[in-house]
Amino acid sequence: KKNEKALVIIFGGTGDLAQRKLYPSIFQLYKKGYLKENFAVIGTARRPWTDEYYREVVKDSIDGMYDEQTVATEFASHFYYQSHNVTDTNHYKTLQALAQSLDEKYQIGGNRLFYLAMSPRFFGTICDHLKSQQIMTETGYNRVIVEKPFGRDLASATELNDEISKSFPEEDVFRIDHYLGKEMVQNIAALRFGNSIFNSMWNNRYISNIQVTLSEALGVEERAGYYETAGALRDMIQNHVLQIVALLTMSAPVSFTDTDIRNAKINALKCLKIYSPEEVKENFVRGQYGPGNGLIGYREEAQTAEDSMTETFVAGKLMVNTMDMAGVPIYVRTGKRMKTKATRIDVVFKQVPNNVFEDSDLRHDVLTINVDPEPSLSLQLNSKTIGQGFDFDTHHLNLDYKLSPEQRAAIPEAYEKLILDAMQCRASNFAHWKELQCSWKFVDAIRQAWDQNVDQVAFPNYDCASMGPKASDDLLAKDGNHWEFNC
Ligand code: NAD
Repeated sequence: KKNEKALVIIFGGTGDLAQRKLYPSIFQLYKKGYLKENFAVIGTARRPWTDEYYREVVKDSIDGMYDEQTVATEFASHFYYQSHNVTDTNHYKTLQALAQSLDEKYQIGGNRLFYLAMSPRFFGTICDHLKSQQIMTETGYNRVIVEKPFGRDLASATELNDEISKSFPEEDVFRIDHYLGKEMVQNIAALRFGNSIFNSMWNNRYISNIQVTLSEALGVEERAGYYETAGALRDMIQNHVLQIVALLTMSAPVSFTDTDIRNAKINALKCLKIYSPEEVKENFVRGQYGPGNGLIGYREEAQTAEDSMTETFVAGKLMVNTMDMAGVPIYVRTGKRMKTKATRIDVVFKQVPNNVFEDSDLRHDVLTINVDPEPSLSLQLNSKTIGQGFDFDTHHLNLDYKLSPEQRAAIPEAYEKLILDAMQCRASNFAHWKELQCSWKFVDAIRQAWDQNVDQVAFPNYDCASMGPKASDDLLAKDGNHWEFNC
């Protein structure tokens, strides 16, 4: 393990993301020895906190993650707070001086990681000031991590990207998509390109269809204000779902390096068929949860309009027209207040072209990749029933990793992996701007069709704790398919 030298400057240091995800992840890196003496964190936000108070907040956020108090105290001593209004140039002057002194104190060598954990409307002004006030150094690296949402359509994402790229070149911009930090999402490339059985069969000759489900059991919770302006299409499909689709459909990268992996993903996303309004109607379904199973509907949640047309569910059929994947439907769905919380991928293989066992119904072979809540793999196969005669049964080869509680606790959380990736300049688990361009283009076409109400949908149209509207099942049934994941 390399002793990473880094000054992490977090904009939005008092926020929910910082406290729930960032401080615990940085602590894990510290506990595991990636961060030792040569690091410091500056948290900035508007509130007038002292260093002492800030360190208590940091300690609270890692409560239960350490045995000895001294470890937490020593860790928290690397944290400094600056009350900072992102639009006030004077505050950046103070920040520059603090950064310089901490760089010397902890012998960091000029490496700076700027974490923008606040509303994207401030990203432009922050990046401008980082450059103009010389908070970026010349002796080490200057990298910026930006949080989602990255725009709300192609036009606003382009504007945001232009603002950031005035200060940071593309190779220093790390756009977080925390699904790319998940073990089993990273495992997609390992399975596809590390096994000849899958590598040779991963194409339209053998794959019938691919299904991706990102279901949440929770409702909109306290994020309703934001969610009303976003909806599931922007909140989940544009980023997480399309990133997973890119990993599932990309051609083999020339090598497993950032540039080659990202190029392969960009090429796959460029082949994503952009739908006309009529095709949107055919291939996409939107939903909104209504009351059911003892839970209130979306329109009854605080901060939502009583006639809200925000979608809390999306299902769709995508076509990625590469040589290998053309003709393979990729069905995706995501929603809130669904029956269960899960992230799951099913790759449904075609049946053998000629069933020589004429009297037996053979089923599709299915490779299931369970991402959440538990990492596991399963391969559904037809095989002979043990005993007299020649009957078939469906069997599953299961790999459930059988993790001990210690191993489970040691699985790095997505943010922990991604922060270390950014420190070590591994960019493949972050979205490239060209990937976002393609995904926004795709999503904009759907949004525009829905804004014209091509599907004439009426909300609410699914019950809480269900798997979404019936139209989502019909979407697959039209092709003679069904959702493999039907809990
Ligand atoms: P939050 O509202 O809890 O925190 C926002 C932070 O920004 C606070 O520290 C606040 O003091 C600071 N801030 C606001 N205006 C400021 C100003 N003018 N000057 C200086 N500081 C100012 O938000 P959050 O939930 O932590 O989210 C932060 C970002 O991360 C958002 O872009 C959000 O979309 C994204 N995000 C959050 C989560 C999550 O789980 N919370 C998940 C994914 C993405």
